[in-house]
Amino acid sequence: MREKSLTIFDFDGTLYPINTYDSEQLLILSAAKERGVLFKKRGNHFIAQDQRGVFDDTSFHQRYEKLVKRATPAMIEEVAELLVSHIGEREKDALLELSHISDLGILTCGTENLAEAFLGKLGIEDSFSFIRGKRLVRNTDGISHLLVDISGPRAKADVVESLRKDYETIIAIGDGPTDIPMIEAADYGMIVAWNKQNRQYPYDTFPSLESAVLHSIDYLESNRRALESAKR
Ligand SMILES: [Mg+2]
Repeated sequence: MREKSLTIFDFDGTLYPINTYDSEQLLILSAAKERGVLFKKRGNHFIAQDQRGVFDDTSFHQRYEKLVKRATPAMIEEVAELLVSHIGEREKDALLELSHISDLGILTCGTENLAEAFLGKLGIEDSFSFIRGKRLVRNTDGISHLLVDISGPRAKADVVESLRKDYETIIAIGDGPTDIPMIEAADYGMIVAWNKQNRQYPYDTFPSLESAVLHSIDYLESNRRALESAKR
Protein backbone atom coordinates (compact mmCIF):
# COMPACT_ATOMS: atom_id res chain seq x y z
CA MET A 1 0.00 0.00 0.00
CA ARG A 2 1.27 3.44 -0.89
CA GLU A 3 1.92 5.82 1.99
CA LYS A 4 -0.54 8.67 1.64
CA SER A 5 0.56 12.18 2.39
CA LEU A 6 -1.18 15.53 2.50
CA THR A 7 0.36 18.98 2.18
CA ILE A 8 -1.77 21.79 3.59
CA PHE A 9 -1.21 25.41 2.65
CA ASP A 10 -2.36 28.59 4.25
CA PHE A 11 -3.55 31.02 1.55
CA ASP A 12 -2.87 34.71 2.29
CA GLY A 13 0.84 35.41 2.58
CA THR A 14 1.77 31.79 1.86
CA LEU A 15 0.56 30.95 -1.66
CA TYR A 16 1.23 34.55 -2.70
CA PRO A 17 3.26 37.37 -1.09
CA ILE A 18 1.19 40.10 0.55
CA ASN A 19 2.01 43.37 -1.14
CA THR A 20 0.43 46.03 1.14
CA TYR A 21 -3.03 44.41 1.00
CA ASP A 22 -4.17 40.82 1.49
CA SER A 23 -6.82 39.24 -0.73
CA GLU A 24 -9.79 40.25 1.45
CA GLN A 25 -8.60 43.83 1.69
CA LEU A 26 -8.18 43.87 -2.09
CA LEU A 27 -11.74 42.61 -2.50
CA ILE A 28 -13.03 45.47 -0.33
CA LEU A 29 -11.01 47.96 -2.40
CA SER A 30 -12.37 46.42 -5.60
CA ALA A 31 -15.97 46.64 -4.29
CA ALA A 32 -15.35 50.25 -3.23
CA LYS A 33 -14.65 51.31 -6.82
CA GLU A 34 -18.34 51.04 -7.61
CA ARG A 35 -19.58 52.60 -4.38
CA GLY A 36 -19.90 56.10 -2.96
CA VAL A 37 -17.54 58.19 -0.86
CA LEU A 38 -18.98 56.94 2.42
CA PHE A 39 -18.39 53.29 1.52
CA LYS A 40 -14.83 54.05 0.41
CA LYS A 41 -14.17 55.75 3.74
CA ARG A 42 -15.66 52.87 5.67
CA GLY A 43 -13.64 50.36 3.64
CA ASN A 44 -10.36 52.21 4.13
CA HIS A 45 -11.03 52.57 7.83
CA PHE A 46 -11.74 48.84 8.14
CA ILE A 47 -8.54 47.97 6.26
CA ALA A 48 -6.45 50.29 8.45
CA GLN A 49 -7.92 48.72 11.59
CA ASP A 50 -7.43 45.22 10.20
CA GLN A 51 -3.77 45.98 9.47
CA ARG A 52 -3.34 47.15 13.04
CA GLY A 53 -4.81 43.84 14.18
CA VAL A 54 -7.71 45.27 16.19
CA PHE A 55 -10.34 42.67 15.22
CA ASP A 56 -10.98 39.30 16.75
CA ASP A 57 -12.25 36.60 14.39
CA THR A 58 -15.96 37.21 15.01
CA SER A 59 -15.90 41.00 14.75
CA PHE A 60 -13.79 40.72 11.59
CA HIS A 61 -16.27 38.33 9.98
CA GLN A 62 -19.27 40.54 10.75
CA ARG A 63 -17.70 43.71 9.38
CA TYR A 64 -16.12 42.00 6.37
CA GLU A 65 -19.44 40.41 5.41
CA LYS A 66 -21.11 43.83 5.31
CA LEU A 67 -18.35 45.35 3.20
CA VAL A 68 -18.24 42.61 0.57
CA LYS A 69 -21.95 41.76 0.40
CA ARG A 70 -22.22 43.33 -3.07
CA ALA A 71 -18.94 41.92 -4.37
CA THR A 72 -19.36 40.27 -7.78
CA PRO A 73 -17.63 37.24 -9.31
CA ALA A 74 -15.82 39.71 -11.62
CA MET A 75 -14.34 41.48 -8.59
CA ILE A 76 -13.15 38.16 -7.18
CA GLU A 77 -11.53 37.37 -10.54
CA GLU A 78 -9.89 40.80 -10.60
CA VAL A 79 -8.32 40.21 -7.17
CA ALA A 80 -7.15 36.72 -8.17
CA GLU A 81 -5.50 38.13 -11.31
CA LEU A 82 -3.56 40.61 -9.21
CA LEU A 83 -2.43 37.95 -6.71
CA VAL A 84 -1.27 35.60 -9.45
CA SER A 85 0.79 38.40 -11.00
CA HIS A 86 3.01 38.30 -7.88
CA ILE A 87 4.07 34.69 -8.41
CA GLY A 88 5.52 32.84 -11.37
CA GLU A 89 5.52 29.66 -13.42
CA ARG A 90 8.14 28.20 -11.07
CA GLU A 91 5.71 28.24 -8.15
CA LYS A 92 3.03 26.65 -10.29
CA ASP A 93 5.38 23.95 -11.62
CA ALA A 94 6.60 23.13 -8.10
CA LEU A 95 2.99 22.77 -6.85
CA LEU A 96 2.14 20.50 -9.80
CA GLU A 97 5.20 18.34 -9.09
CA LEU A 98 4.23 18.05 -5.42
CA SER A 99 0.67 17.12 -6.38
CA HIS A 100 2.03 13.95 -8.03
CA ILE A 101 3.27 12.59 -4.70
CA SER A 102 0.96 14.27 -2.17
CA ASP A 103 -2.63 15.39 -1.84
CA LEU A 104 -2.87 19.18 -1.57
CA GLY A 105 -5.30 21.32 0.40
CA ILE A 106 -5.82 24.87 1.60
CA LEU A 107 -6.83 25.78 5.15
CA THR A 108 -7.35 29.51 5.44
CA CYS A 109 -8.83 32.08 7.79
CA GLY A 110 -9.50 33.95 4.51
CA THR A 111 -12.09 33.61 1.76
CA GLU A 112 -12.46 30.33 -0.16
CA ASN A 113 -13.80 32.06 -3.29
CA LEU A 114 -10.60 34.12 -3.57
CA ALA A 115 -8.34 31.08 -3.06
CA GLU A 116 -10.39 29.14 -5.60
CA ALA A 117 -10.18 31.92 -8.21
CA PHE A 118 -6.43 32.18 -7.55
CA LEU A 119 -5.90 28.46 -8.22
CA GLY A 120 -8.13 28.77 -11.28
CA LYS A 121 -5.98 31.58 -12.71
CA LEU A 122 -2.90 29.40 -12.16
CA GLY A 123 -4.69 26.49 -13.84
CA ILE A 124 -4.06 24.12 -10.92
CA GLU A 125 -7.46 24.05 -9.18
CA ASP A 126 -7.87 20.34 -9.98
CA SER A 127 -4.63 19.53 -8.14
CA PHE A 128 -6.14 20.55 -4.79
CA SER A 129 -8.45 18.23 -2.86
CA PHE A 130 -10.01 20.92 -0.70
CA ILE A 131 -10.16 24.63 0.11
CA ARG A 132 -11.62 25.40 3.52
CA GLY A 133 -12.07 28.85 5.02
CA LYS A 134 -15.03 31.23 4.72
CA ARG A 135 -17.24 31.18 1.67
CA LEU A 136 -19.16 34.05 0.11
CA VAL A 137 -22.51 32.66 -1.03
CA ARG A 138 -24.41 34.91 -3.41
CA ASN A 139 -28.22 34.92 -3.55
CA THR A 140 -30.36 35.71 -6.59
CA ASP A 141 -30.45 39.41 -5.65
CA GLY A 142 -26.66 39.54 -5.89
CA ILE A 143 -26.17 39.87 -2.14
CA SER A 144 -23.53 37.66 -0.58
CA HIS A 145 -23.42 36.29 2.90
CA LEU A 146 -20.54 34.61 4.62
CA LEU A 147 -20.47 30.92 5.56
CA VAL A 148 -17.72 30.39 8.10
CA ASP A 149 -16.15 26.94 8.10
CA ILE A 150 -12.71 27.78 9.52
CA SER A 151 -13.43 30.28 12.30
CA GLY A 152 -9.84 30.89 13.37
CA PRO A 153 -6.34 29.46 13.85
CA ARG A 154 -7.47 26.74 16.28
CA ALA A 155 -9.99 25.45 13.71
CA LYS A 156 -7.15 24.88 11.25
CA ALA A 157 -5.39 22.66 13.79
CA ASP A 158 -8.65 20.78 14.45
CA VAL A 159 -8.95 19.98 10.73
CA VAL A 160 -5.39 18.63 10.70
CA GLU A 161 -6.28 16.39 13.65
CA SER A 162 -9.45 15.17 11.92
CA LEU A 163 -7.46 14.27 8.78
CA ARG A 164 -4.91 12.20 10.72
CA LYS A 165 -6.85 8.99 10.15
CA ASP A 166 -6.62 9.40 6.37
CA TYR A 167 -2.95 10.24 6.01
CA GLU A 168 0.36 8.78 7.04
CA THR A 169 2.12 12.15 6.78
CA ILE A 170 0.69 15.68 6.99
CA ILE A 171 2.83 18.70 6.11
CA ALA A 172 1.59 22.23 6.87
CA ILE A 173 2.97 25.36 5.24
CA GLY A 174 2.09 28.84 6.49
CA ASP A 175 3.46 32.33 6.94
CA GLY A 176 2.29 33.80 10.22
CA PRO A 177 0.87 33.51 13.73
CA THR A 178 -2.51 32.20 12.59
CA ASP A 179 -0.74 29.16 11.10
CA ILE A 180 1.18 28.10 14.20
CA PRO A 181 -1.54 25.80 15.68
CA MET A 182 -1.91 24.08 12.28
CA ILE A 183 1.88 23.70 11.95
CA GLU A 184 2.09 22.32 15.50
CA ALA A 185 -0.62 19.78 14.71
CA ALA A 186 1.11 18.59 11.52
CA ASP A 187 3.96 16.08 11.27
CA TYR A 188 6.17 18.66 9.68
CA GLY A 189 5.65 22.40 9.37
CA MET A 190 7.30 25.08 7.30
CA ILE A 191 7.15 28.86 7.05
CA VAL A 192 7.23 30.84 3.82
CA ALA A 193 8.80 34.22 4.58
CA TRP A 194 8.36 36.11 1.30
CA ASN A 195 10.66 39.14 1.20
CA LYS A 196 11.55 38.91 4.87
CA GLN A 197 15.13 38.82 6.10
CA ASN A 198 14.76 37.32 9.56
CA ARG A 199 13.48 33.96 10.65
CA GLN A 200 10.51 34.82 12.86
CA TYR A 201 9.33 31.36 13.92
CA PRO A 202 11.12 28.24 15.16
CA TYR A 203 10.33 26.23 12.02
CA ASP A 204 12.18 25.64 8.76
CA THR A 205 11.75 28.90 6.89
CA PHE A 206 11.92 29.47 3.14
CA PRO A 207 12.22 32.67 1.11
CA SER A 208 9.66 31.62 -1.51
CA LEU A 209 6.76 29.26 -2.07
CA GLU A 210 8.80 27.42 -4.70
CA SER A 211 11.64 26.63 -2.27
CA ALA A 212 9.19 25.47 0.43
CA VAL A 213 7.34 23.23 -2.03
CA LEU A 214 10.57 21.73 -3.39
CA HIS A 215 11.63 21.04 0.18
CA SER A 216 8.31 19.25 0.84
CA ILE A 217 9.03 17.04 -2.14
CA ASP A 218 12.51 16.22 -0.76
CA TYR A 219 11.05 15.57 2.67
CA LEU A 220 8.38 13.17 1.37
CA GLU A 221 10.83 11.40 -0.97
CA SER A 222 13.37 10.84 1.79
CA ASN A 223 10.59 9.57 4.10
CA ARG A 224 9.55 7.14 1.41
CA ARG A 225 13.13 5.91 0.87
CA ALA A 226 13.61 5.46 4.62
CA LEU A 227 10.41 3.39 4.83
CA GLU A 228 11.44 1.26 1.87
CA SER A 229 14.86 0.49 3.26
CA ALA A 230 13.31 -0.32 6.66
CA LYS A 231 11.09 -2.89 4.93
CA ARG A 232 14.04 -4.60 3.26
MG1 LIG B 1 -1.27 33.80 6.08
